[in-house]
Amino acid sequence: MSARAGIVVTGTEVLTGRVSDRNGPWVSEQLSGLGIDHTHTILVGDRDEDMLAALEFFRTSGVDLVVTSGGLGPTEDDRTAEVVGRFQGREMVLDEPTEARIWEILQRMRVRWGAALDEDAVRAANRKQAVVPRGAEILAPVGTAPGLVVSPAPDSAGPVVVVLPGPPRELQPMWSDAVASEGFASVLARATTYRQSMLRLFGIPESEIAATLRAARDGGIDIDALEITTCLRRGEIEVVTRWQPPADAAYAALEDFVRARHADTLFSDDGTSVDQQVASLLRSQGLRVATAESCTAGLLAARLTELDGSSAYFPGGVVVYENEAKADLAGVDPAVIASVGAVSREVAEALADGARARLGADIGIGITGIAGPGGGTEEKPVGTVWLSVAGADGTRLTRHVQLPGNRFDVRDRSTTVAMHLLRRVLLGGADGISEAAEG
Ligand code: ATP
Ligand code: MG
Repeated sequence: MSARAGIVVTGTEVLTGRVSDRNGPWVSEQLSGLGIDHTHTILVGDRDEDMLAALEFFRTSGVDLVVTSGGLGPTEDDRTAEVVGRFQGREMVLDEPTEARIWEILQRMRVRWGAALDEDAVRAANRKQAVVPRGAEILAPVGTAPGLVVSPAPDSAGPVVVVLPGPPRELQPMWSDAVASEGFASVLARATTYRQSMLRLFGIPESEIAATLRAARDGGIDIDALEITTCLRRGEIEVVTRWQPPADAAYAALEDFVRARHADTLFSDDGTSVDQQVASLLRSQGLRVATAESCTAGLLAARLTELDGSSAYFPGGVVVYENEAKADLAGVDPAVIASVGAVSREVAEALADGARARLGADIGIGITGIAGPGGGTEEKPVGTVWLSVAGADGTRLTRHVQLPGNRFDVRDRSTTVAMHLLRRVLLGGADGISEAAEG
């Protein structure tokens, strides 16, 4: 059996949701890359007995490794080092080299803060952070808190515990040192090699993938040798498969099977997102795209500029919420709006043309729809969205979708549909998009 690990995320602010957990998922991803099975993440507040109970749970469940995040700071409510020491049966001792090292870091901070810092308080904080379980391996701090790798005391049994600070910008750079530690090496020796691959599809329901997996099994593909998870994310389906090398052939067969059945909706087999594909298509073709958005009010523009270097292909976009703004900023004929309504094929196309012309782009995208919860009618219910992409040489792709979900979902999903329409246009597929393929 492979090495197994648990994660303990500490912090009352994370437990309550004021801060959302970025360490659990990140560490999980790293563990998976190392071939270590991640079994659970436990989220606990800043209370000794709760943290200890989480650690005991992992001892009972027999994991080889526990990674903790948070609670290493200088204040009294930062208790993790001490709790882990207790858990491993190791007394707390002042580590003088660590104290000196933190002192140096604090001196640099003091220069930045000026006289505002009280010398005694800084000394005390410094000392607290340098008190560690006897025998722990110490990981160099990125902030002021050193990380720890703490193995069970010689007369006790249980997992190796890696203790890392809470702020993700500190935790992440300290990970490689943690992996290089002696305690971690003993766990890695038991890790298995895993491979992982992701397929992304757009425009089919999740049930279709479930049916495909059943058909693959019926067709003799060894599905049981593969760990397959499918999830729906931002309107796309992601099929993530993890397997051990002896199952390479089974995975190759599965990928071929999916490709054959879903040729028109499978858009990524190498982990790339539609956003990355669109960016590289725009770059390689030397084209620029501009937007005129009504119901999404800039979300598509924001999405198009998420990747660095986007100024090479995105000159800008306009947010045209009111009818007057659609006319003034995107040149939509008010008479058209009056006759067919703002949420219509005609207005989506006029927005796309307007974006293209006003911003001097090769391609324009227009979006107009009803995000809800109000504003829907029988003819145009909430979730009705018209999107149009006006291409470089008079090509055009216009589509109407009926999107499920609340206001947030409809707006977010609209940007996904727009990215896929843009991708199709860039691949030369301005016609022949089926309006039935709505996700
Ligand atoms: P510090 O010295 O900053 O107190 P610490 O190791 O004691 O470090 P915490 O006190 O638990 O860490 O958290 C400090 C801050 O780091 C939190 O207020 C939060 O902003 C961020 N943080 C902590 N844990 C997480 C997490 N799991 N995901 C995202 N951010 C986190
Ligand atoms: Mg803290």
